[in-house]
Amino acid sequence: MALIVQKYGGTSVGSTERICTVARRIARHHRDGHQLVVVVSAMSGETNRLLALAKEISPNPDPRELDVVAATGEQVTIGLLAIALQELGLKAKSYTGGQVRVLTDNAFTKARILKIDEEPIRKDLSEGTIVIVAGFQGVDAAGNITTLGRGGSDTSGVALAAALSADECQIYTDVDGVYTAERITFEEMLEMASLGSKILQIRSVEFAGKYKVRLRVLSSFDDPESQATGTLITFEEDDTMEQAIISGIAFNRDEAKISLMGVEDRPGVAYAILGPVAAANIDVDMIVQNIGASGHTDFSFTVNRSEYQKALDVLARDKGRGFSARDIIGDNRICKVSLVGIGMRSHVGIAAKMFKTLADEQINIQMISTSEIKTSVVIDEKYLELAVRVLHRAFELDVPPRQERMQSERQQGTSL
Ligand code: ASP
Ligand code: MG
Repeated sequence: MALIVQKYGGTSVGSTERICTVARRIARHHRDGHQLVVVVSAMSGETNRLLALAKEISPNPDPRELDVVAATGEQVTIGLLAIALQELGLKAKSYTGGQVRVLTDNAFTKARILKIDEEPIRKDLSEGTIVIVAGFQGVDAAGNITTLGRGGSDTSGVALAAALSADECQIYTDVDGVYTAERITFEEMLEMASLGSKILQIRSVEFAGKYKVRLRVLSSFDDPESQATGTLITFEEDDTMEQAIISGIAFNRDEAKISLMGVEDRPGVAYAILGPVAAANIDVDMIVQNIGASGHTDFSFTVNRSEYQKALDVLARDKGRGFSARDIIGDNRICKVSLVGIGMRSHVGIAAKMFKTLADEQINIQMISTSEIKTSVVIDEKYLELAVRVLHRAFELDVPPRQERMQSERQQGTSL
């Protein structure tokens, strides 16, 4: 018998039908003899909807009150899941963060977990009850409701697993953007998370590393009776013989590219272009500057798609003042595809193989960036599925990418 913490994200509990599917999956694990603590997110889109309501009333809502509003999303799903499990004849009981008590600091909208009272949970578990806990939320020392930042249910799950010394924390997701080998190291998972794969909140991975929580990512698309083992995130660089050189492919559709043509090639020009962009709080990802010819150069960078127009506006405002450019061209139908693997450190030719694989499919690479353990390319969005599929095959990753998973991610856009 193992103690397992399972976390289900927004799409997995996005409808009552899906909640019933989750209940069946939990029932199967319970039948296998495990003790289960289940953490859930709000139904997909719900947190966005709640935050938007507050913004309809005030452009700058008080963070304490924002948390009061946002935390209700998870309260709905814990209750519904408990009801679904009870319908299956199982004992289940739901808890809000404050009821558990997940004690946090008082940094509203981005609180950090300080302590979890695990005794009441242990008591329920010993009586055969399945415990369901609201993700994303806690309570500060004064009793105020707090939330942990977007995507925070992952951190709730990992923190509960740490507090209970659970045998494993299983994150069930259907938010894709990541295809991985059966095992991936923490370092690689962090890189994947930072590449926008959205599969895990970065903080949850750091938390798992710190407390040595055994973390596994699984697909909630699989049949509830499926014995699929997902991806285990390991602490040590793998010692098995056939360690994959590439451990994962991450992709991000939320990118947009801006190119400034014919910019003067002089000291300070990068700052003149990007300084005001940073001042407008716009995150810049990749940056490419060409070699200068006859005193001019081309300069390109990528931003999050949601900030694309804002970035263009800033540049239009400054063009001819801070810098001069012949033309500013934007493209918001691009995506970024990245290969991640610590094997890149010791193997040459990985990037070349990636480029050849894409070239064989006539996929044009628009930008490239590399770090020690990743190679990213920007390509036309319409080639995303194809690129992931062929790279997957070329680098022999185990879990086949699934058309329906990628499609579902597309419908959701930025998934929660
Ligand atoms: N519901 C919260 C969010 O949308 C927390 C989570 O889903 O992890 O960010
Ligand atoms: Mg999430």
